[in-house]
Amino acid sequence: SANFYDLAAACFPADAESTFIELESGSRYSYGDLIAISGRYARLLADLGVVKGDRVAVQVEKSPEAVFLYLACLRAGAAYLPLNTAYTRAEIAYFLGDAQPRIFVCDPAKADALAEVAAEAGVGAVLTLGAKGEGTLAERAAGLDPAFDTVACGPDDLAAILYTSGTTGRSKGAMLTHRNIGSNAATLHRVWGFRPDDVLLHALPIFHTHGLFVAINCTLMNGSAMLFLPKFDADAVFRLLPRASVMMGVPTFYTRMLADERLTRDATAHMRLFVSGSAPLLADIHEEFSARTGHAILERYGMTETCMITSNPLEGDRIPGTVGFPLPEVAVRVADEKSGQPVAQGEIGVIEVKGPNVFSGYWRMPEKTAQEFRADGFFITGDVGRIDGRGYIHIIGRAKDLVISGGFNVYPKEVETVIDAIGGVVESAVVGVPHPDFGEAVVAVVLRKPGLAAPDDAAVIRICKEQLANFKVPKAVVFTDELPRNTMGKVQKNLLREAHKGLFD
Ligand code: ATP
Ligand code: MG
Repeated sequence: SANFYDLAAACFPADAESTFIELESGSRYSYGDLIAISGRYARLLADLGVVKGDRVAVQVEKSPEAVFLYLACLRAGAAYLPLNTAYTRAEIAYFLGDAQPRIFVCDPAKADALAEVAAEAGVGAVLTLGAKGEGTLAERAAGLDPAFDTVACGPDDLAAILYTSGTTGRSKGAMLTHRNIGSNAATLHRVWGFRPDDVLLHALPIFHTHGLFVAINCTLMNGSAMLFLPKFDADAVFRLLPRASVMMGVPTFYTRMLADERLTRDATAHMRLFVSGSAPLLADIHEEFSARTGHAILERYGMTETCMITSNPLEGDRIPGTVGFPLPEVAVRVADEKSGQPVAQGEIGVIEVKGPNVFSGYWRMPEKTAQEFRADGFFITGDVGRIDGRGYIHIIGRAKDLVISGGFNVYPKEVETVIDAIGGVVESAVVGVPHPDFGEAVVAVVLRKPGLAAPDDAAVIRICKEQLANFKVPKAVVFTDELPRNTMGKVQKNLLREAHKGLFD
């Protein structure tokens, strides 16, 4: 069977007592627990009528039981459909209506409010699961037989529906198959050189591809342990770091670690690997982290729709500001967005990808799905990038963020790079806002370091003029104390465009 659970189970350690998850409290869950608890949960799902192809929607806090529930869904042949814990009742109503799950599992504290919404969406049953494992899921599963025959699945059967982060608009449900997640997990496990005694420090959310498929699936394929934190917390991270060998994070984790004096060579001495993804890692942060710890963060690139696409090498140069090479079996090309023709080597275009990692489509959006694929099967990521002479891929930004000012294309990243290099600037975000003459005007939103040396708007514009063609120079510079980011550390440019849309009225 191509069921990812079977693939992973073949890699579980021989000793069922081996640790799978350890919490900060010291509570430990073994691989034997994983097998038994996911078996009971799968039995409960099946008893409640879940059959192959059904969706099980889940909005719960991060916990070992939530991981077992994910595996139980795979074992029952269902599609696991995790939802961001921040979603409100109205958003949950939308997602349940869209996904039509057989079962909805939610936090006990929200059960009253959400049961009604679930009933309206035609959900068959609501179960509860709290941060400490409490609730009706565990209660009802407790007496059941842990021996459950995992439902055989084909490579094209649905394993999960993951909603995208909603950075550019309403989140879309990406349908991921057992082949998608299985091939990607096996590849990452291999190229990142996982070792039997690796211990992964897990501080990411588990409703997103990064924390769920990259971090957890690699661990399962390795049969090793995770130190499981409810969220990123610097104190807990520095406490646990000496016991970990691999950490996966979004760039903001690394920024926060750098801002902490506990980040030293000693504190990270026996770490094997730091991985970053989900949003661009500033080259500065990469370099500062290397200087402080001796570790070159390994940056990789992926999407909900495609799992991981590229990675910097384990052996060899991890180049700051690049996302490395296409993963084995994954084809990446750079094409002209409109014509779909591949661009010349080194030129900028939209990144397209094909391989066993690429999803089977957006849930109930056949037209949108068709639009995002080329005739030869390549998926159009919507990210703009280029491939350099050594084959490293550089992400320039999102096609949707391209600014067209006076008929000229401005890639925000190019302007941001110039501004970020100015002394006294922490980071910047460049967006296009409506302008009566130019159509769109380049606007820079800039976060300054506190202190006297920070530049004012005239200085930012002067430096940009020295280094950039006139049409790329910001028409306005706005200073801010914080760039708006979502849970995955992505800058929400739509909010910036909205906030500054009246600048040139
Ligand atoms: P939505 O599609 O709903 O607007 P989203 O694209 O942010 O949201 P995700 O699937 O979580 O949702 O994120 C994928 C995107 O994250 C990629 O298309 C890319 O823009 C960005 N990304 C991921 N890793 C990197 C990276 N290493 N460097 C730059 N960007 C990255
Ligand atoms: Mg996207």
